Amino acid sequence: MPAASIRHQLFIDGRFVDAESGETLASINPHDNTPIAAVALAGKADVDKAVAAANRAFPAWSRMAAADRGRILLRLADLIEADAEALAQLESLDTGHPIRDSRALDVPRTAACFRYFGGMADKFQGETIPVEAGFLNYTLREPLGVVGQIVPWNFPLMFTSWKMAPALAAGNCIVMKPSEITPLSSLRIAELMQEAGLPDGVVNMVPGLGSEVGQYIAEHPGIAKVAFTGSTATGRRVVQASAANLKKVQLELGGKGPNIVFEDAFLPAAVNGSAWAIFHNQGQACIAGSRLVLHEKIADAFLDKFIALAQSIRLGNPLDPETEMGPLTSALHRDRVLAYVDLAREQGGEVLAGGRAPGGELARGCYVEPTIVRARSYRDRVAQEEVFGPFVTVLTFKDDAEAMEIANGTDYGLGSGLWTGNLQRAHRMARDLHAGMVWINSYKRVNPGSPFGGVGQSGYGREMGFDAMREYTHVKSVWVNVDAQIPPHFKR
Ligand code: NDP
Repeated sequence: MPAASIRHQLFIDGRFVDAESGETLASINPHDNTPIAAVALAGKADVDKAVAAANRAFPAWSRMAAADRGRILLRLADLIEADAEALAQLESLDTGHPIRDSRALDVPRTAACFRYFGGMADKFQGETIPVEAGFLNYTLREPLGVVGQIVPWNFPLMFTSWKMAPALAAGNCIVMKPSEITPLSSLRIAELMQEAGLPDGVVNMVPGLGSEVGQYIAEHPGIAKVAFTGSTATGRRVVQASAANLKKVQLELGGKGPNIVFEDAFLPAAVNGSAWAIFHNQGQACIAGSRLVLHEKIADAFLDKFIALAQSIRLGNPLDPETEMGPLTSALHRDRVLAYVDLAREQGGEVLAGGRAPGGELARGCYVEPTIVRARSYRDRVAQEEVFGPFVTVLTFKDDAEAMEIANGTDYGLGSGLWTGNLQRAHRMARDLHAGMVWINSYKRVNPGSPFGGVGQSGYGREMGFDAMREYTHVKSVWVNVDAQIPPHFKR
């Protein structure tokens, strides 16, 4: 993609504009730490403009026929598909996602999400409720108003669609903060939205610092809801800030996904699925299967194959179609991940594979080798804290009860998986896992129709499916006296 076609300004009220302060921040290619573009860095004044524009756009957008809103999203899905290669290149350049994943996963999933909610717009409806005689009672599903959306750097393109599509289908307007580390694909989506016919002001994008712009969005009195994806610590700050005007909050936070392999699992599938669970996107996924919980009878046989597979993963330039794992998204994050390798050793853990930044040509980038660490206890920090990198912690168990104790032994509760040939056990574990999502004989499946979100310290609220439409609407109950005779309650 030619540099000239990379959008690097804020998107406010249907126009690409510089930040009020004139400040910019370099978006960095994590493959070699070279700058890609100087992106305008929003401040509070820009957020105020964006909120004002979104509030102006809201009455017309929310009253537009739902099918017409849907049609714009459907058109956008088509435009994303037509622009697929450029979007994939941009995503890989900015984030380090291997191009084969950007092509096969990020871009198609983004289009699918807009298409799903485009179709949903005129199918999401209220109810009539059988109340007492003489009354008609029905509910309206109404949009909230202007919603603030804070998108992180791990799946910027896909998460832009997950947040935007249901909000728009339901009739809300948006002020989005893409991560200033990886804003390029989101800004391209803004451009495609204009082409799809989205009215000015309905969507606004203000990449800026989380501590300033993110915080201000969470506080802003002109914003009715904030939807946040990121760390649990920052999620707490968002909740505190949101108290200023009691805005609705939706949180998609961290995880420490247990991926349990029982002694009766079909091992070849479990090995492949477990590698996908942790190493896809360099492990930078809230639902990553970052705790590999193995039955002691098959642990050695499993690990032999799993280590060999991890060591064969091809690291390299994300733009090379042969690359299977790219760099982490930033140097800061690479260092954070490597610090966990030191911590594992300090706590008596054993590094079974990886644990280093590769040398040679890749030394300039933010790479970390696929890393497998055996921990002494599920209470160790490397078995409790989200590393968010290609780093899996191995634990073993003797029986189902111990597997469950380990699996539920963190404060998180987002993704989880299990591999077994025993049907009863599979459903029993699915029932008892403290998690928002359970995958049986598979891991990390997502679909726009299937609710996505967590429990406990992994947050609350759901993205995707009908649940997402509920999150972006409130329900109004309307009572109509059709022919009820109501005797006076007070006697004079
Ligand atoms: P943060 O939670 O700090 O950042 C996530 C997003 O929130 C970013 O866009 C960030 O902006 C923004 N943000 C930061 N501070 C505030 C604030 N006070 N109010 C509102 N928004 C804010 O995560 P990091 O990027 O620092 O990553 C740290 C760890 O968080 C990772 O290692 C991982 O464990 C977890 N994480 C989880 C994600 C998930 O998918 N659930 C996604 C990203 C991170 P800015 O980039 O400017 O700081």
